[in-house]
Formats: sequence, structure tokens, C-alpha cells
Amino acid sequence: MLSLDSHPSGRHFLQIPGPSPVPDRILRALSLPTIDHRGPEFAVLGKTVIAGLQQVFQTRHPVAIYPASGTGAWEAALVNVLSPGDAVLMVETGHFATLWQKMALRLGLAPEFLSRPGTCAQTGLPLAWRHGVDAEAIGQRLREDREHRLKAVCVVHNETSTGVTSDIAAVRRAIDDAGHPALLMVDTISGLASAEYKHDAWGVDVAVSGSQKGLMLPPGISFNALSPKALAASRDAKLPKAFWAWDEIVEMNRGGYWPYTPSTNLLYGLHEALEMILAQGLDVIFARHQRWASAVRGAVAAWGLPLQCADPAVFSPVLTGVVTPAGVDADALRQSIHQRFDLSLGTGLGRVKGRMFRIGHLGDSNDLTLLATLAGVEMGLKLAGIPLAASGVQAAMDHFSAHPAPTSTTT
Ligand SMILES: *Cc1c(COP(=O)(O)O)cnc(C)c1O
Repeated sequence: MLSLDSHPSGRHFLQIPGPSPVPDRILRALSLPTIDHRGPEFAVLGKTVIAGLQQVFQTRHPVAIYPASGTGAWEAALVNVLSPGDAVLMVETGHFATLWQKMALRLGLAPEFLSRPGTCAQTGLPLAWRHGVDAEAIGQRLREDREHRLKAVCVVHNETSTGVTSDIAAVRRAIDDAGHPALLMVDTISGLASAEYKHDAWGVDVAVSGSQKGLMLPPGISFNALSPKALAASRDAKLPKAFWAWDEIVEMNRGGYWPYTPSTNLLYGLHEALEMILAQGLDVIFARHQRWASAVRGAVAAWGLPLQCADPAVFSPVLTGVVTPAGVDADALRQSIHQRFDLSLGTGLGRVKGRMFRIGHLGDSNDLTLLATLAGVEMGLKLAGIPLAASGVQAAMDHFSAHPAPTSTTT
């Protein structure tokens, strides 16, 4: 256990790509007294957070809120619209895409896992984990599927294990151009409220998201945004569903209530988060993350290290994956940075374990906390004996100085 005197001074730097740092305003909102979830006050809270989430997802259709981590909302997405043995097309972009595919297998679905073959000559890492979703390859596969056996296309919007943000509108076009009726399901657990996401305009049928990434909340609640086509599919789908079933939730949500006890205090936090996000404006928030990401990539370039994402068209605004030189254990590096500087960086997951680390630039951050984060990384790299081409911190300072932060027009 932590003893009092082991508590480090100052704030811990939680620079993993979720859970992200939670603003004090939200922490205070979480500590309000818990109320009756069947009482009149609750209905106001329930209706307000659902309406706010619809604005953030950019949808006019229902959004379900689950008292569960993002993994629960993944399961909800699959079990509501699919039947045992259904074929689904999933795309290997990294660890989270792989976990969703494994879940589909466990649920008795028949996922096809589309993957970019080969490994990168420079880093030895799988190419599939350095690129985004290949919409053309999806279109091609769907055109081959003349009997329409594939019931859904499932893709990860912001692949948090690598730092790649795929083009979801292109996937929608590929499905439409192939004239295929498959549902489009999108994991935007780490994309929502940090990277642009347009549920209705992009024609997404089921979106999955969670609280602890761009929404700046602690972990514990997660979401499904639906389309009328997904709701219709859920009426005929045969996988067993009870807790996750949309019908009762959507019905009771009309009055601001849930079929069971919702996470009252996390909903207070969500209310506060939505007020902050909507007052600032989504465009300002997206521009802010893009600017942070540019500065962090500038730092990595100055150090002379490769980015995990090999395609500039799909660089993530939310996090940056950094590949360590051959022979340098990225987890040992992370541990030493944590021990010396009280800074948490994201670990390499699955097929890239030990070969890369991730810098989160989301949640309650600003230019100076990011500069401090980069300083911690730079010191750690030097202590590990890694030769650096130049100072990444200096490069990021130059970037921030040259590019003023985007400001909201509403304040
Ligand atoms: C965080 C994350 C998950 C997993 O969510 P949990 O809340 O840990 O269950 C899934 N997909 C993506 C893209 C994520 O970033």
C-alpha cells in the first residue's frame, strides 16, 4: 500500500491515451450527493446528458449509456444487431481491433479479419499496425460477397494502440459503392470528443464509445450511438441479449430514466463534461488536439525516432505512438520515466509490445503540461543512452510559439 510519505509532490502526469486527466470541475461534480434514480430531478439529468451526447456524436438518433467500460459497449453493439454464426468483416489496425475480433469469436460470430500483409523493413513491425483501415480493400471484399453473407463491417476509428485515425467516411462510401447492405459499426472509444466524428453524416449504424478518453471522465460508463437501420436490425437479431438490449433502454430513456440503476455520479460528471465541451465547441476541441499532436510529432521527429503511424494522412490527434530503437525495451524505458519523473506513458500492446510507447495528448492538458511530458520523455531517452538528433522539447516549444491555440468564437 501507499504510505503517506511515498506520495510524490505535485500532480502525477497521466499521459496514457486513456484514462485521461480529469478536470477539477468534473471531479467536483462527481462528488455531489447521489440522488433517487427514479425521482423527478433524475429525469432532468438523464434527458440532458442524452441530448448533449447526441450533439457530441452529431446524431439525431438514440444514444444508449451503459454502466460499463468500453468493452461492454462493444458487446452491446454486436449482440443487439447480429445472430449466431453471422459473418462480419473486421479490420486489423492494432490491439483494440484485435480484441473486438476476439470478442466476436467468443460470441459465436464468424469474423473475417482483413489485414494488410507484411512487416515494415525499417522497424520490423507489422504493417497492419502502422496504417489505417483500407476502404478499397473493404469495398473489394464486399463486392465479392454477392450473397450478402457479411452482416456488418466493424472498424476502429481511433486505434489507441498505435495512434492511427481511420477515414470512416471512406469506409461508408466503399460500402455504398459496393451496393452492400452490411451495417457499419465503429469503435470511437478514444476518438469521440477529440477527433472529428460525425455519426449521421458518415452513415454509421452503431458507434461504440467510452467515458475515460476524450470525454475526460473516469472509466465506468460507455455508449452506443444508433441508426434507424441498426434499431430495425436489433428487432430481428438472435444473439441472446438482456442487459445490453437497446429496446428497454431507449424506451425508458425517453422519460430520462433507465431500466436499472444508472451510474448516477458518473452522469453528473458527464453533465459537466458536456457543458465544457459544448461551450468550447467541437471544432475548437478538434483543432486543439490536432495542434497538440503536431507539436508531439515535431518532438519525435527532432529526437530522430520513428512514429508508429507510417501514413501522415491518418496521424491521430489523440495520441502518438513512438517506436524505440532496436534493442531498447520500450517498457523498461517507460518504467524508468515513471520512477524518475512520476510520468505515466502508454505501453506497447499486443504485437508491438516492448517496441513502442504511446504519448497521450487528450483530456485535461495544455501546452505546458505537454511540454513537461515531452521533457520527461526526453530525459528518459537520454538516461537510457539513446542518441537523440536534437531536442524534442525545443521543437515543441517552437511549434507552440509559432501556432497560437485555437479559440472558441462563443466565449
Ligand atoms: C480504451 C479502448 C477500448 C477499451 O475500452 P475499456 O473501457 O478499457 O473497456 C476499446 N477500444 C478502443 C479504441 C479504446 O481506446
